[in-house]
Amino acid sequence: MHPVSRPPIGVLALQGAFAAHQQRLAELDVASIQVRRPADLDGLHGLVMPGGESTTMSMLLTSSELFDPIAERIHDGLAVLGTCAGMILLAREVLDGRTDQRCLGAIDLVVRRNGYGRQLDSFECDLALRSGTPDEPPFRGVFIRAPKVEAWGAGVEVLAEHEGVPVLARQRRITVASFHPELTRDARVHAEFVHHLEMESS
Ligand code: GLN
Repeated sequence: MHPVSRPPIGVLALQGAFAAHQQRLAELDVASIQVRRPADLDGLHGLVMPGGESTTMSMLLTSSELFDPIAERIHDGLAVLGTCAGMILLAREVLDGRTDQRCLGAIDLVVRRNGYGRQLDSFECDLALRSGTPDEPPFRGVFIRAPKVEAWGAGVEVLAEHEGVPVLARQRRITVASFHPELTRDARVHAEFVHHLEMESS
């Protein structure tokens, strides 16, 4: 028996926590490929942009010549899941970024880098997922020097929040999390991303 054949999802593999994303996708029987150069984007309908360091990733996206092709593919409807640094790279505006840091402006969010402050550099908390049923267990959110959403546009759907601040959000085909859903053995955020992507593509 062959597993259900679905087009693979790309995982940006320039830096950061990409292997854990591949692991969560594999648990859902979704094949993934590592994206390191523009040709790797060919035929992809979905891309994961992992956590790491957004300033470094911005530099590597430019030097690998991936920045512009990713921006074009997003414009043409590529679905993207961006986590932590990935969220920063997808935002409309970044506060406390480096002046040469670039962002893709793919989701109408203003985010502050390391916005949860030094004393809370890393923390965990339970999150209620809006997509879940009321009796569904919470999702354990792992926040590591996480970006904080400071403003969001009317087109942004908030899928989970922490203390009144969106931490999981979606606008059309772009989903972002300020936490690390790949670091818990719980693939619900990835499952929701894949489900949404497949619904929209069908
Ligand atoms: N603080 C990091 C940045 O600015 C993000 C941290 C993370 O991805 N865990 O990119």
